[in-house]
Amino acid sequence: MIYLDNAATTKPHEDVIKSYTQMNQHYFFNPNSPHGAGIKIAHLIDKARKNIKQYLNLNDKFDVIFTSGATESNNIALQGMAQTKKRFGNTILTTKMEHPSVLETVRALEEQGFNLKYINTTADGKLDLNSLEKLLNDDVILVTCMHVNNIMGQVQPIEEISKMLEAYPKVHFHVDGVQGFGKIPLDINLMDSYSLSAHKFHGLKGSGILVLNQLRSIKPIIFGGGQEYGIRSGTVNAPVNVSLAKAMRFMQENCEQHRKVLYAKGSEIRSFIENYEGIVINSPTDAAPYILNISFPGVKGEVLVNAFSKFDIYLSTTSACSSKKSSHNETLKAMGMSNSRIEGSIRISITYDITEEQIETFKEAFNKVYIEVKELLKNEL
Ligand code: PLP
Repeated sequence: MIYLDNAATTKPHEDVIKSYTQMNQHYFFNPNSPHGAGIKIAHLIDKARKNIKQYLNLNDKFDVIFTSGATESNNIALQGMAQTKKRFGNTILTTKMEHPSVLETVRALEEQGFNLKYINTTADGKLDLNSLEKLLNDDVILVTCMHVNNIMGQVQPIEEISKMLEAYPKVHFHVDGVQGFGKIPLDINLMDSYSLSAHKFHGLKGSGILVLNQLRSIKPIIFGGGQEYGIRSGTVNAPVNVSLAKAMRFMQENCEQHRKVLYAKGSEIRSFIENYEGIVINSPTDAAPYILNISFPGVKGEVLVNAFSKFDIYLSTTSACSSKKSSHNETLKAMGMSNSRIEGSIRISITYDITEEQIETFKEAFNKVYIEVKELLKNEL
């Protein structure tokens, strides 16, 4: 099998599985229990939290809250901060290229009376800094965007946005870091909050974090026993949280090495596909090298995914975690693409352990699928 859908989810690293299994076998206790076993677990969670802060190079004003993943982290940050900042203003700024866990949340906030405005994106899908500058005013309380786009791989200008926001100290700047962490360096201290899902970096599904500045002021959206600083109530999942720290360590320790592999292999795949007439590469040249979006105009993405599946090669039409919402259409539409290009788009997303042999097998299969598709189109004419 050749798995090229790593933007949807990645294979958990062996250290992660080992740690999760050990924790469940030997340290299954509730960290809130007052007895010695509970206290031990609470210490393990504290240690994992401290390690995460260190791996992320966070300064002291930040805290790490364990969540079930980025969808929850985005919801907590955006809903919580909007309610907290309400007394200072009413406007929320974002782009139309965000993941549904951001877009649908800000749209729900709009229904509650917040003024939602969309920052324009450039033709290659980057947040347009001029548009942001024009939209910023004293009523803005929240600006949110992603680091790396999940459909196309564009890397957003987080440093420039953060610089621009220095003139607006009451604005909370939230970044959805899901597709960038461990692969594209980012100084998280430049923002006010940051979301991650562990399963996107070789951790487990149902596991994530929210990194948050201004912890003391955010209004919770989940109420209960007051765990996770009162922001995310519910019995703390120690095995999952400790294993997240393991995945993070693996990514941080190998970041440089992985980056080299991703750039080399990503460029190799891109250059190979560029030679095919009629195929359009949708990802801009400066996109993250591990996400490549291409279109076979005139052929549906599903047909292509099925064609590759027959060769035991798995890639995606779109962002798997949001396909029900057709968010890919919004992202591609925001870039002004034609319907046939959108419908014929597929995403190839690689990870650090892709081998040369797998790439060769992919290339052979690609060629066969290309010929098959050309025949199909000829017969349809
Ligand atoms: N943000 C981005 C950019 C994503 O790609 C995803 C999932 O693909 C999410 C948020 C949501 O992550 P999860 O489904 O793990 O909550």
